Amino acid sequence: MAEREIKGLLIDIDGVIYDDEEVIPDSIYAMRWLQQKRIPFRFATNATSRSRASLAGRLRDLGIEVADDQVINTPYVAARELRERPWTRCMLLVKEDARREFDGLTLVDRDPQVVVVGDLASGFDYATLNRAFQAVLGGAELLALQKDRFWRVRDELVLDAGPFVVALEYATGRNARLVGKPSRDFFRVALEGMGIPPQQVAMVGDDIENDVKGAQEAGLLGILVQTGKYRPDLVERTGIQPDLVVKNLGDFVARF
Ligand SMILES: [Mg+2]
Repeated sequence: MAEREIKGLLIDIDGVIYDDEEVIPDSIYAMRWLQQKRIPFRFATNATSRSRASLAGRLRDLGIEVADDQVINTPYVAARELRERPWTRCMLLVKEDARREFDGLTLVDRDPQVVVVGDLASGFDYATLNRAFQAVLGGAELLALQKDRFWRVRDELVLDAGPFVVALEYATGRNARLVGKPSRDFFRVALEGMGIPPQQVAMVGDDIENDVKGAQEAGLLGILVQTGKYRPDLVERTGIQPDLVVKNLGDFVARF
Protein backbone atom coordinates (compact mmCIF):
# COMPACT_ATOMS: atom_id res chain seq x y z
CA MET A 1 0.00 0.00 0.00
CA ALA A 2 2.88 2.31 0.80
CA GLU A 3 3.68 2.96 -2.89
CA ARG A 4 0.31 4.58 -3.51
CA GLU A 5 -0.60 7.73 -1.65
CA ILE A 6 -4.16 7.72 -0.33
CA LYS A 7 -5.87 11.10 -0.53
CA GLY A 8 -9.47 10.08 -0.07
CA LEU A 9 -11.64 7.22 1.13
CA LEU A 10 -14.81 5.42 0.26
CA ILE A 11 -16.16 3.77 3.38
CA ASP A 12 -18.73 1.01 3.52
CA ILE A 13 -21.31 1.33 6.32
CA ASP A 14 -22.75 -2.09 7.20
CA GLY A 15 -19.99 -4.23 8.63
CA VAL A 16 -17.58 -1.30 8.96
CA ILE A 17 -19.42 1.31 11.07
CA TYR A 18 -22.10 -0.94 12.49
CA ASP A 19 -23.69 -4.37 12.20
CA ASP A 20 -27.41 -3.68 12.02
CA GLU A 21 -28.08 -2.21 15.49
CA GLU A 22 -24.62 -2.76 16.95
CA VAL A 23 -21.81 -0.20 16.54
CA ILE A 24 -18.44 -1.76 15.65
CA PRO A 25 -15.69 -0.90 18.19
CA ASP A 26 -13.49 2.11 17.29
CA SER A 27 -15.46 3.00 14.15
CA ILE A 28 -16.89 6.29 15.47
CA TYR A 29 -13.53 7.31 16.91
CA ALA A 30 -11.89 6.48 13.57
CA MET A 31 -14.36 8.63 11.62
CA ARG A 32 -13.79 11.57 13.98
CA TRP A 33 -10.05 11.19 13.49
CA LEU A 34 -10.45 11.24 9.69
CA GLN A 35 -12.61 14.34 9.94
CA GLN A 36 -10.11 16.12 12.18
CA LYS A 37 -7.42 15.37 9.61
CA ARG A 38 -9.78 16.67 6.89
CA ILE A 39 -9.41 13.56 4.79
CA PRO A 40 -12.12 13.61 2.10
CA PHE A 41 -14.47 10.64 2.21
CA ARG A 42 -17.82 9.34 1.07
CA PHE A 43 -19.84 6.55 2.54
CA ALA A 44 -20.44 4.07 -0.27
CA THR A 45 -23.00 1.44 0.61
CA ASN A 46 -24.97 -1.31 -1.07
CA ALA A 47 -27.61 -0.96 1.66
CA THR A 48 -30.93 -0.58 -0.09
CA SER A 49 -33.38 -0.36 2.78
CA ARG A 50 -32.98 3.32 3.67
CA SER A 51 -32.77 6.67 1.87
CA ARG A 52 -29.56 8.70 1.95
CA ALA A 53 -31.12 11.21 4.37
CA SER A 54 -32.09 8.41 6.71
CA LEU A 55 -28.64 6.74 6.58
CA ALA A 56 -26.89 10.09 7.14
CA GLY A 57 -29.26 10.87 10.02
CA ARG A 58 -28.39 7.61 11.72
CA LEU A 59 -24.65 8.27 11.28
CA ARG A 60 -25.10 11.76 12.76
CA ASP A 61 -26.98 10.24 15.70
CA LEU A 62 -23.91 8.08 16.29
CA GLY A 63 -21.71 11.19 16.37
CA ILE A 64 -20.33 11.20 12.83
CA GLU A 65 -20.66 14.62 11.17
CA VAL A 66 -21.82 13.78 7.68
CA ALA A 67 -24.00 15.58 5.12
CA ASP A 68 -26.70 13.64 3.28
CA ASP A 69 -24.82 13.98 0.00
CA GLN A 70 -21.71 12.35 1.45
CA VAL A 71 -23.65 9.10 1.53
CA ILE A 72 -23.86 7.26 -1.78
CA ASN A 73 -26.35 4.40 -1.75
CA THR A 74 -27.72 2.31 -4.57
CA PRO A 75 -31.33 3.64 -4.50
CA TYR A 76 -29.87 7.13 -5.07
CA VAL A 77 -27.69 5.98 -7.97
CA ALA A 78 -30.58 4.07 -9.58
CA ALA A 79 -33.11 6.88 -9.15
CA ARG A 80 -30.66 9.38 -10.60
CA GLU A 81 -30.32 7.26 -13.70
CA LEU A 82 -34.08 6.66 -14.00
CA ARG A 83 -34.76 10.41 -13.79
CA GLU A 84 -32.85 10.79 -17.04
CA ARG A 85 -35.70 8.86 -18.67
CA PRO A 86 -38.57 10.43 -16.71
CA TRP A 87 -41.53 8.63 -18.24
CA THR A 88 -40.24 5.20 -17.39
CA ARG A 89 -42.75 3.19 -15.35
CA CYS A 90 -40.92 1.60 -12.41
CA MET A 91 -41.93 -1.28 -10.15
CA LEU A 92 -40.00 -0.98 -6.87
CA LEU A 93 -39.11 -3.94 -4.71
CA VAL A 94 -37.50 -1.89 -1.96
CA LYS A 95 -38.39 -1.04 1.62
CA GLU A 96 -40.59 1.95 2.40
CA ASP A 97 -37.81 4.25 3.58
CA ALA A 98 -35.77 3.70 0.41
CA ARG A 99 -38.80 4.53 -1.77
CA ARG A 100 -38.27 8.18 -0.79
CA GLU A 101 -35.21 8.20 -3.01
CA PHE A 102 -37.48 7.55 -6.03
CA ASP A 103 -39.82 10.54 -5.42
CA GLY A 104 -41.03 12.12 -8.63
CA LEU A 105 -40.66 8.97 -10.73
CA THR A 106 -43.58 7.06 -12.20
CA LEU A 107 -44.10 4.17 -9.79
CA VAL A 108 -46.48 1.38 -10.76
CA ASP A 109 -47.59 -2.04 -9.51
CA ARG A 110 -48.28 -3.50 -12.95
CA ASP A 111 -46.92 -3.20 -16.49
CA PRO A 112 -43.61 -1.60 -15.51
CA GLN A 113 -40.77 -0.91 -17.93
CA VAL A 114 -38.22 -1.42 -15.17
CA VAL A 115 -38.27 -3.67 -12.10
CA VAL A 116 -35.95 -2.36 -9.37
CA VAL A 117 -34.91 -4.97 -6.80
CA GLY A 118 -33.34 -4.11 -3.45
CA ASP A 119 -33.24 -5.95 -0.14
CA LEU A 120 -36.83 -6.59 0.90
CA ALA A 121 -35.85 -9.18 3.55
CA SER A 122 -39.06 -10.85 4.76
CA GLY A 123 -40.97 -8.90 2.09
CA PHE A 124 -39.57 -11.29 -0.51
CA ASP A 125 -42.64 -13.51 -0.53
CA TYR A 126 -43.94 -15.64 -3.39
CA ALA A 127 -46.53 -13.12 -4.57
CA THR A 128 -43.98 -10.29 -4.76
CA LEU A 129 -41.33 -12.33 -6.55
CA ASN A 130 -43.93 -13.72 -8.91
CA ARG A 131 -45.13 -10.22 -9.79
CA ALA A 132 -41.56 -9.22 -10.61
CA PHE A 133 -41.03 -12.44 -12.57
CA GLN A 134 -44.11 -11.79 -14.72
CA ALA A 135 -43.11 -8.18 -15.35
CA VAL A 136 -39.62 -9.15 -16.54
CA LEU A 137 -41.06 -11.93 -18.65
CA GLY A 138 -43.36 -9.30 -20.16
CA GLY A 139 -40.34 -7.28 -21.27
CA ALA A 140 -39.45 -5.09 -18.28
CA GLU A 141 -35.79 -4.44 -17.57
CA LEU A 142 -34.44 -6.03 -14.38
CA LEU A 143 -32.37 -3.59 -12.33
CA ALA A 144 -30.59 -5.02 -9.27
CA LEU A 145 -29.68 -2.41 -6.67
CA GLN A 146 -27.17 -4.93 -5.38
CA LYS A 147 -26.42 -8.65 -5.60
CA ASP A 148 -24.82 -9.16 -2.20
CA ARG A 149 -24.98 -12.80 -1.18
CA PHE A 150 -25.44 -12.21 2.55
CA TRP A 151 -24.87 -9.73 5.35
CA ARG A 152 -24.61 -9.87 9.09
CA VAL A 153 -27.40 -9.22 11.56
CA ARG A 154 -26.33 -9.61 15.18
CA ASP A 155 -24.35 -12.86 15.28
CA GLU A 156 -25.76 -14.40 12.14
CA LEU A 157 -25.12 -14.20 8.42
CA VAL A 158 -28.45 -13.69 6.66
CA LEU A 159 -29.62 -13.67 3.05
CA ASP A 160 -29.26 -10.36 1.23
CA ALA A 161 -30.90 -9.30 -2.07
CA GLY A 162 -28.52 -11.25 -4.33
CA PRO A 163 -30.10 -14.69 -3.97
CA PHE A 164 -33.51 -13.23 -4.89
CA VAL A 165 -32.12 -11.35 -7.90
CA VAL A 166 -30.55 -14.61 -9.06
CA ALA A 167 -33.87 -16.40 -8.59
CA LEU A 168 -35.51 -13.87 -10.94
CA GLU A 169 -32.63 -14.21 -13.41
CA TYR A 170 -32.95 -17.97 -13.36
CA ALA A 171 -36.71 -17.93 -13.81
CA THR A 172 -36.71 -15.39 -16.63
CA GLY A 173 -33.47 -16.37 -18.35
CA ARG A 174 -32.53 -12.67 -18.31
CA ASN A 175 -29.60 -10.99 -16.60
CA ALA A 176 -30.17 -8.17 -14.15
CA ARG A 177 -28.19 -4.98 -14.60
CA LEU A 178 -26.31 -4.26 -11.40
CA VAL A 179 -26.37 -0.73 -9.95
CA GLY A 180 -24.37 -1.13 -6.72
CA LYS A 181 -20.86 -2.33 -5.88
CA PRO A 182 -18.95 -3.95 -7.59
CA SER A 183 -20.26 -2.12 -10.66
CA ARG A 184 -17.74 0.36 -12.03
CA ASP A 185 -20.46 2.98 -12.50
CA PHE A 186 -21.23 2.92 -8.79
CA PHE A 187 -17.62 3.72 -7.95
CA ARG A 188 -17.61 6.47 -10.60
CA VAL A 189 -20.69 8.13 -9.05
CA ALA A 190 -19.26 7.72 -5.53
CA LEU A 191 -16.04 9.49 -6.58
CA GLU A 192 -17.90 12.39 -8.25
CA GLY A 193 -17.38 15.60 -6.38
CA MET A 194 -14.33 14.36 -4.49
CA GLY A 195 -11.96 15.62 -7.17
CA ILE A 196 -9.46 12.84 -6.50
CA PRO A 197 -8.39 10.27 -9.11
CA PRO A 198 -9.40 6.67 -8.29
CA GLN A 199 -5.73 5.63 -7.96
CA GLN A 200 -5.49 7.83 -4.85
CA VAL A 201 -8.68 6.60 -3.20
CA ALA A 202 -9.07 3.51 -1.03
CA MET A 203 -12.32 1.65 -0.50
CA VAL A 204 -12.67 0.21 3.01
CA GLY A 205 -15.22 -2.58 3.33
CA ASP A 206 -16.07 -5.99 4.74
CA ASP A 207 -17.16 -7.59 1.45
CA ILE A 208 -14.23 -9.20 -0.37
CA GLU A 209 -15.98 -9.24 -3.74
CA ASN A 210 -18.06 -6.08 -3.82
CA ASP A 211 -15.83 -3.76 -1.81
CA VAL A 212 -12.31 -5.08 -2.41
CA LYS A 213 -12.42 -6.59 -5.88
CA GLY A 214 -14.94 -4.03 -7.14
CA ALA A 215 -12.70 -1.18 -5.97
CA GLN A 216 -9.58 -2.74 -7.44
CA GLU A 217 -11.27 -3.20 -10.81
CA ALA A 218 -12.37 0.45 -10.75
CA GLY A 219 -8.74 1.51 -10.13
CA LEU A 220 -9.00 2.12 -6.39
CA LEU A 221 -7.21 0.36 -3.55
CA GLY A 222 -9.28 -2.32 -1.83
CA ILE A 223 -8.94 -2.52 1.96
CA LEU A 224 -10.61 -5.39 3.81
CA VAL A 225 -11.73 -5.03 7.43
CA GLN A 226 -12.05 -8.13 9.60
CA THR A 227 -15.43 -7.02 10.93
CA GLY A 228 -19.02 -7.43 9.73
CA LYS A 229 -19.46 -10.34 7.35
CA TYR A 230 -15.71 -11.09 7.23
CA ARG A 231 -14.96 -14.82 7.52
CA PRO A 232 -11.38 -15.98 6.79
CA ASP A 233 -12.49 -19.21 5.12
CA LEU A 234 -14.96 -17.43 2.81
CA VAL A 235 -12.40 -14.78 1.89
CA GLU A 236 -9.75 -17.38 1.11
CA ARG A 237 -12.12 -19.29 -1.14
CA THR A 238 -12.46 -16.24 -3.45
CA GLY A 239 -8.71 -16.02 -4.13
CA ILE A 240 -8.98 -12.22 -4.11
CA GLN A 241 -5.97 -10.34 -2.70
CA PRO A 242 -6.87 -7.15 -0.82
CA ASP A 243 -4.29 -4.34 -0.90
CA LEU A 244 -4.44 -4.39 2.88
CA VAL A 245 -6.27 -6.37 5.54
CA VAL A 246 -6.96 -4.62 8.85
CA LYS A 247 -8.67 -5.56 12.09
CA ASN A 248 -11.24 -2.77 11.81
CA LEU A 249 -11.63 0.84 10.64
CA GLY A 250 -9.75 2.10 13.73
CA ASP A 251 -6.83 -0.16 12.89
CA PHE A 252 -6.83 1.24 9.34
CA VAL A 253 -6.77 4.92 10.32
CA ALA A 254 -3.99 4.20 12.85
CA ARG A 255 -1.79 3.22 9.87
CA PHE A 256 -2.82 6.18 7.76
MG1 LIG B 1 -20.56 -4.09 4.23
